[in-house]
Amino acid sequence: MALDPQCLFCKIIEGEIPADIVFRNENVVAFNDINPQAPTHVLVIPTVHIENAAGLARISGTITAALFSAAAEIAEERGLGGYRTVFNTGIDAGQSVFHAHMHLLGGRELAWPPG
Ligand code: AMP
Ligand code: ZN
Repeated sequence: MALDPQCLFCKIIEGEIPADIVFRNENVVAFNDINPQAPTHVLVIPTVHIENAAGLARISGTITAALFSAAAEIAEERGLGGYRTVFNTGIDAGQSVFHAHMHLLGGRELAWPPG
């Protein structure tokens, strides 16, 4: 499926921009966030260019589910006692990269409610 040559995360998928890739399959790529907010801060992204999680859910339940499965696998592999998955959708929620991505956070106690 289509990638956007202007998109930062599409460039990571293509290997054009380096990233610490920790997991990869046909539907998702996961890599360490460049500005980690927890000992584990991994971004799990679909291998198709789509702006946000709402758009992703519209086009493919399979790929949406693949993001959650990848997060569970990474958390299990690292023995995390718990973890948080977050999608920022839209500018008001703090989305800064417009290629859908799940933040997988863990490895420390996470406060609730989030800021
Ligand atoms: P958001 O604000 O939800 O759109 O999240 C974007 C995330 O991408 C932020 O947590 C950034 O630290 C992260 N990020 C931006 N550029 C890179 C990069 N080149 N490699 C890894 N993570 C990045
Ligand atoms: Zn993209």
